[in-house]
Amino acid sequence: MATETVPARTLKEYKTEVHIDWCPGCGDFGILNALQMALWEMKIPQHEVVIFSGIGCSGKTPHFVNSYGIHTLHGRLVPYATGAKLANPHLKVIAVGGDGDGMGIGVGHFVSAGRRNVDITYIIYDNGVYGLTKGQASPTLPLGVKTKSLPFPNAQTNVNPLLLAFAAGYTFIARGYAYDTRQLKELMKQAIYHKGLSFLDVLQPCPTYNDINTKEWFAERVYYLDETEYQAEITPDDPPEVSQARIVQFIQKALEWGDRIPIGVFLKNTAVPSYEERIYSRVPTYYSLPPGTRPIADEEGKSLTDLSRLLQSLLVTGNST
Ligand code: SF4
Repeated sequence: MATETVPARTLKEYKTEVHIDWCPGCGDFGILNALQMALWEMKIPQHEVVIFSGIGCSGKTPHFVNSYGIHTLHGRLVPYATGAKLANPHLKVIAVGGDGDGMGIGVGHFVSAGRRNVDITYIIYDNGVYGLTKGQASPTLPLGVKTKSLPFPNAQTNVNPLLLAFAAGYTFIARGYAYDTRQLKELMKQAIYHKGLSFLDVLQPCPTYNDINTKEWFAERVYYLDETEYQAEITPDDPPEVSQARIVQFIQKALEWGDRIPIGVFLKNTAVPSYEERIYSRVPTYYSLPPGTRPIADEEGKSLTDLSRLLQSLLVTGNST
């Protein structure tokens, strides 16, 4: 756990001494390095960073980053992250999970989060398999693909995480590649800076169980969206026809998969208020005295919460016989 109150002086301070037990060559290493570099370059004090993970190989990430963090339950990282952010909106809250975690058992939470637009960042380590449990097909593995861990080709169609994020209401949607850590780091910084719910889908080879989507396979296909041609941002001042054109363009690019796979920022919508801003409009003390920072006991440990009015309202009076 971090104890400093100032930004770390070196990148090394964002690393822990915990042994990293991912398989050699795993894309998780690139994602971890990019995350540590992004936090370091953003100069975020370690005690202001909280990382939540679910179950899977990616779930170990909070153990390897020297900040606050919780390794939660399968698919439940988003409710944890949402609660932490609402309790203290001054924290930088990051949720990390696998494609099986977020698009499978956690997909209900993934969708619900989009409706709220809480200012957190959700990073999915997307490798098409459930790596921790020996490589079963995950929700992002396309129909008909047979990895070495499957006895038969995948019989189910896949979920498109970018389109699902858009349908749910995420206001920042991007895709990165685990082996290009420098570009991935920049995408993470943009996602974390974004005021609202940001989603980053990271294509991540799993060399142990997925022998189809290898680093050589990705290297031939991934390309960066050309920011001089592709306009990702929707602002509050844009007329409806401009916003609609951006959305059509987003859908076209999000559907592109095969010989060419685009990566970069696909959508950035600054026209939607965050959930915290909606709370603030009703509770003026929300940012100056958020729930998570309020004192709950006096110097002697005596609770400051006065329940007498509540108990009075529940008092049963009269003859109960
Ligand atoms: Fe990485 Fe796959 Fe090994 Fe998990 S099983 S650590 S995703 S290579």
